[in-house]
Amino acid sequence: MRHSAIEPLLILQDRERTRRSLSQSLAAIPGDRARVQGKIDAEKNAIDAAKAEWRGLESSKKLLETEIGVAEGKLGKYRTQQSLVKKNDEYQALGHEIDTAEAEISKLEGQELEIMYEIDNSKERFATAEKELHVSIADHEARLVTITERESSLTAELKEAESIVETARVDVDPKSLRVFDQVAPQTFPVCVAVNGGKCGGCHLRVSGEAEGVTRKGDELGRCDQCARIIWWESS
Ligand SMILES: [Zn+2]
Repeated sequence: MRHSAIEPLLILQDRERTRRSLSQSLAAIPGDRARVQGKIDAEKNAIDAAKAEWRGLESSKKLLETEIGVAEGKLGKYRTQQSLVKKNDEYQALGHEIDTAEAEISKLEGQELEIMYEIDNSKERFATAEKELHVSIADHEARLVTITERESSLTAELKEAESIVETARVDVDPKSLRVFDQVAPQTFPVCVAVNGGKCGGCHLRVSGEAEGVTRKGDELGRCDQCARIIWWESS
């Protein structure tokens, strides 16, 4: 004979399963939100990095332009001096300075060209990163809205499920309820059928003593292995 608490316990267990599932879904919400936020942050960081690179290159270019200006100033000075000197050796010495300054300017201009090329690439990377963000930000924001909606509907469902669990608890006698509350935090489901002498929870064979108690139905049967509440299938 089945113990009289089994029927209300199974109803309670069913309600409790629903409550647990809702509670788990709700617990996953902050993680979902953080993942979307993480994607937004990563895209914004990519833009910031591209912008910083671009700015760095622009200031290198400015520095080079200053150096070119200084070198050109020197070159102009040497040329003026050269036009004024009379002695051949002085003329030649200044000619050497002019060659050096010209080589220096040519080298700096080469570097400037390279930087200008890098600036173009960097600008392109920045524009691409920005475009990607604008395209995906709408998706991310929509996803965040969905998550918030889901959170509020789950919260409402959970509240209802909790009240349904409370109602189901009323129908279980206090002693059986204590056993349920003792097992539930460790093992779920709490109430399982015994089939072919084996516990439906841990699948181990229950002892003859546990079988006797369970079959008789005066007391609540427990699995000797996993402590679940057991009942005998009447087949
Ligand atoms: Zn068991």
